[in-house]
Amino acid sequence: MMDKQALKKQAMAVVDAMAPELREISLFLHQNPELGGNEYQAAQLLKAAAERRGFTVKANISGYETAFIASKGNNGPKVAFLAEYDALPGLGHACGHNLIAAMSWGAAAAFAAVAGDQAAAYLIGCPAEETTGAKVDMALDGVFDGLTAALIIHPADNNAMGGTSYATHPLRVTFHGRPAHVASKTDKGVNALDALVMFYQGIKTLRQTFTQETILAGIITKGGTAPNIVPDQAEAKFTVRALSSHYLEDTVVPSVRRLAEGVALATGTTVEAVHYEPLYKELINDSRLMELFQNNMALLGETVTILEPADADGSTDVGNVSHAAPTIHPDISIGSNITAHTPEFCLAAGSEYAQQRMLVGAKAMAMTAIDLLS
Ligand SMILES: [Zn+2]
Ligand SMILES: [Zn+2]
Repeated sequence: MMDKQALKKQAMAVVDAMAPELREISLFLHQNPELGGNEYQAAQLLKAAAERRGFTVKANISGYETAFIASKGNNGPKVAFLAEYDALPGLGHACGHNLIAAMSWGAAAAFAAVAGDQAAAYLIGCPAEETTGAKVDMALDGVFDGLTAALIIHPADNNAMGGTSYATHPLRVTFHGRPAHVASKTDKGVNALDALVMFYQGIKTLRQTFTQETILAGIITKGGTAPNIVPDQAEAKFTVRALSSHYLEDTVVPSVRRLAEGVALATGTTVEAVHYEPLYKELINDSRLMELFQNNMALLGETVTILEPADADGSTDVGNVSHAAPTIHPDISIGSNITAHTPEFCLAAGSEYAQQRMLVGAKAMAMTAIDLLS
């Protein structure tokens, strides 16, 4: 029987000893922001750090050059710590993924160090969270299958956990008509923009028919080329979200398609509705992991607000991970009155305070993993 309290103390000490290394990684990323799919320096830095501590690194995962799986140990529970490291165009690390990268690495290293051959520790490098969501493809390829737990913490303006995220499957809807001179006496053409506007209005009515919370919001991205030509092509992009991917795929999306086809029939146009981004599933926070994490945060002197199960905020590709393995995705406070994707958040993510908070997160994740040892 292992003394888990002693192991947790050891893990905390490992994280504290790693503080300069974690700080260096986090601040290097912060000063050298790379966009989704192009996080070459970040991935390289993390892979090298993992190799130095005896992890085996497999790179080039699911078609992403900047994705990787670093692992150490073969026995016992398989615990993965997920690293994100992409930045935002023009805003740098305004989502604080520099902290996520270093925090998950610190947790993986500490857990591997104290668990020895009693567990399998993974650092999974997940690129492009802000763009194409590499975790979607990685989940499809089975990267997260068979894991005992997948852990990742996001920086925020308070400590919180639970809730969910919206399942989302964006749609591009294009109506095709026939061009003509708007003043022609012999050929009126077929107006694709009129069809699209009718569809856009119809979406607002359709939304009211859904029995579960649904978000349908769109913009018109093409509406014609010149006012004296009947538009022969009109295009809109819609974000289509619900609290359950099943409801989204089985009810919402088919209804939207039927509306588009109905409008096409009524207007003499043709229409196509294509998903232009992959399905992000809703986040399922594992209740057992939540309890363990909350207790470990308490040991570190931290309180965590527990959100209502249906409390959704945005969408994340961690949702797809959570359908493959027990997952938690808590928030840790790095400041107050800051919102992600703003210059203020970027500043906070590079602050000394945030570098301290990152250590707390790394410890809490490593301690939660220790609770999973048999
Ligand atoms: Zn973000
Ligand atoms: Zn983020």
